[in-house]
Amino acid sequence: TRQFTRPLNDLANQFNTLLSAIAGAERVFRIMDEEDEISTESGKEDAGSITGEVIFKDVSFEYEGDQDTLSNISFTAKSGETTAIVGPTGAGKTTLISLLSRFYDPVEGIVEIDGRDMTAIKRESLRNEMAFVLQDSYLFQGTIRENIRYGQLTASDEDVVAAAKEANAHSFIMKFPDGYDTLIDGEGGGISQGQKQLLSIARALLRDPAILILDEATSSIDTVTEINIQEALKRLMNGRTSFVIAHRLNTIRQADQILVLHEGELLESGTHAELINRGGFYADLVQAQQEKQIV
Ligand code: ADP
Repeated sequence: TRQFTRPLNDLANQFNTLLSAIAGAERVFRIMDEEDEISTESGKEDAGSITGEVIFKDVSFEYEGDQDTLSNISFTAKSGETTAIVGPTGAGKTTLISLLSRFYDPVEGIVEIDGRDMTAIKRESLRNEMAFVLQDSYLFQGTIRENIRYGQLTASDEDVVAAAKEANAHSFIMKFPDGYDTLIDGEGGGISQGQKQLLSIARALLRDPAILILDEATSSIDTVTEINIQEALKRLMNGRTSFVIAHRLNTIRQADQILVLHEGELLESGTHAELINRGGFYADLVQAQQEKQIV
């Protein structure tokens, strides 16, 4: 089992890098939104109303000076289903998410959304159909109300409160003397990591996206908040196409499909049971994780 220790440790350690990358991407999205107004980038169509089916067809990608960051990735994420993405550091998980959110376009192959080539769709329009829930989600200096409303700028105060209630955030918000008018600084000071997650779930619910990109918290969160988060996430994911960078075996187990990435290749995909039966890389990872927990 010694040989599995390294990928397992990688698996456990990779997420901070991934998260800061995605948090960065989320910030870049805001900038791109603003730039969209003036730039003439590819993609002229509106996303319109989408069901959120995502298909990767022989997708390859490389960064400049790098090679084969992703090679011939093909999979289908059906509308409303959950896809867990796993694999050691450098496997290409962040890159896959970046292609999915049109942060980059494939070098080869096609990413389709509801049967349409994503590159035909305006990035801003596409982004309106997506929400990110990250363990270190982007909060800006402003009130709690403004931070939730960022999910949907046209939302009324009532909509903001309704979303916060659905996200199990309302009761902690009301414990602050200023309630929804509580000012939070850019670092999210004054509120806990778990509360930040609840706010970001409220924001995502308000956005009402077809596609969700999630990651699980690695930092320890108190049990009550954790239960609130799990419950709120379940509501949020219901009926939406979700891509989860999962830390917990439990979450991965419940996914409709698992994509196992390794060195830019899609090594295996299937349900937990299918991959265990297969006895490949994923099965080894799970076994190693179980042994690690015993030790
Ligand atoms: P993961 O999220 O699974 O850790 P990444 O998608 O971040 O993997 O990285 C896949 C590969 O692409 C790695 O070899 C990484 O070094 C490289 N890479 C990631 N981002 C960039 C970038 N912006 N420029 C060049 N190479 C990158």
